[in-house]
Amino acid sequence: MFERVVVIGAGAAGLAASWAAAQRGAEIRLYDPSIGASCLSGGAVDDRPWEQVARATEVLQLVPEAGPLPESVRSFAQELGLWRLPSQGECLCRLATESGRMRLARGHDTSLLDVARLPTGARVVLPRLARPEWDADSLAASLSADAYAQSRRIVFEAVNAKVLKHVGEDRIASAELASRHDDPVRRQWLAERLGEALVSAGGVGGRSSGSQRPVDAVLTGPWLGADKPIAPWLADRLGVPVGEVLSGVGCAAGMRFESARLALLSNLGVELVPRPVSAIAAVEGELRVTVDEDEHRLTDAVVLAIGGLAAGGVVYDPPEQSAGRDLPLAGRAPFRLSLDAPVRLQAQRQPIDVVGSIHGPALDEVAWPVDADPGLLEAVGVACEGLEAAPQIFAAGDVVADKPRTLLQAVYSGVLAGAAAAGEPGQIERSRRPRR
Ligand SMILES: Cc1cc2nc3c(=O)[nH]c(=O)nc-3n(C[C@H](O)[C@H](O)[C@H](O)COP(=O)(O)OP(=O)(O)OC[C@H]3O[C@@H](n4cnc5c(N)ncnc54)[C@H](O)[C@@H]3O)c2cc1C
Repeated sequence: MFERVVVIGAGAAGLAASWAAAQRGAEIRLYDPSIGASCLSGGAVDDRPWEQVARATEVLQLVPEAGPLPESVRSFAQELGLWRLPSQGECLCRLATESGRMRLARGHDTSLLDVARLPTGARVVLPRLARPEWDADSLAASLSADAYAQSRRIVFEAVNAKVLKHVGEDRIASAELASRHDDPVRRQWLAERLGEALVSAGGVGGRSSGSQRPVDAVLTGPWLGADKPIAPWLADRLGVPVGEVLSGVGCAAGMRFESARLALLSNLGVELVPRPVSAIAAVEGELRVTVDEDEHRLTDAVVLAIGGLAAGGVVYDPPEQSAGRDLPLAGRAPFRLSLDAPVRLQAQRQPIDVVGSIHGPALDEVAWPVDADPGLLEAVGVACEGLEAAPQIFAAGDVVADKPRTLLQAVYSGVLAGAAAAGEPGQIERSRRPRR
């Protein structure tokens, strides 16, 4: 049994690894000085890249149903308390994007609206408000024209509503507006204003007002809580589903992940140490982890969950980056990790040092995704045998080469890596078995 486990990176993979290792009684140190892809999440939770799922359902004319999820992933998600993951056989989720399209997802942050759960012919209203990211009229027109909305006769409509309360709220960041709704008094105010808007728009369900059709749901921008998702509370108050659109990076959904992460770590009794790890080295049967160049810690196992290029766990560093006025002094692999470790990098099943020239790879040719190939930048990472990147170093999430990069993949690989690092019998041997 390993007893001391160092987890490097606290995104979805590192968090799941800490959870799995803590359940097995390991002593855990978790390091992360910054944020990565999980904290930049827009609120969609996928198991496979959603474009592939969409293409497969379209080409094969499949009903987009949720497939099975490993029990460990469900248990982790339940303890995180942030995501809704439909059960096997239920409809996959349909999220309205801020660019006016509808996209499939395996699950979502509970402050987002799942359009798939609305009745056929539903009427969805969007509050009109003066914010740069929100043109309710254009968005409603675009979403109503989406093929999925048309196939289910779902109509989106902009309505007048007073969602902004204070001077300047038309200019603050959307995440800041979301965080103002963490305050119970402000949240209550929002519920009252949306309630008034619903009455003017025709009421809801049995309480329809006037001659208009009742409203079936409310779609908002990414403003429904930065600490916790407040959409379920609003829906309860208003009597109709309420939820956000799927937004880009740096919005409230990522902040809600950070907040749920801290709550889960506190339940586990694991501290998040905000310092970078700079090196891992094997020393007489143990691993020595160097933190911030100045602290050394001996451990039995490491979970490497430092993310991909988006998180800075993998760094693009072609030789010409350090060239002077002439050619670089020497050639080297164009990628490295954010720390020194006795592991190998690969991309598209090839060692990384064969990718490109002294100037690095020709990114305009190899970085773009083509069909199922996600492109070089999404593929580059640590080569693993099963879960192991080197003896006692288990890799999980986006740092692993040639694996799909989604939140649920990160969680699943994190759970397995955490269990293996904590020395779960069978897990390591199983991880080494060649994949078919
Ligand atoms: C723009 C974008 C959109 C996405 N959209 C979706 C989507 O719609 N649906 C979906 O399912 N997935 C999506 N993904 C993918 C998903 O977010 C990732 O697969 C997942 O979050 C990866 O989790 P992770 O824990 O492996 O890495 P990350 O969440 O990136 O975490 C890695 C962590 O490691 C830390 N770290 C790095 N180096 C060190 C070091 N030396 N010492 C200590 N800590 C270190 C970083 O600070 C970071 O916090 C998206 C990703 C991006 C970038």
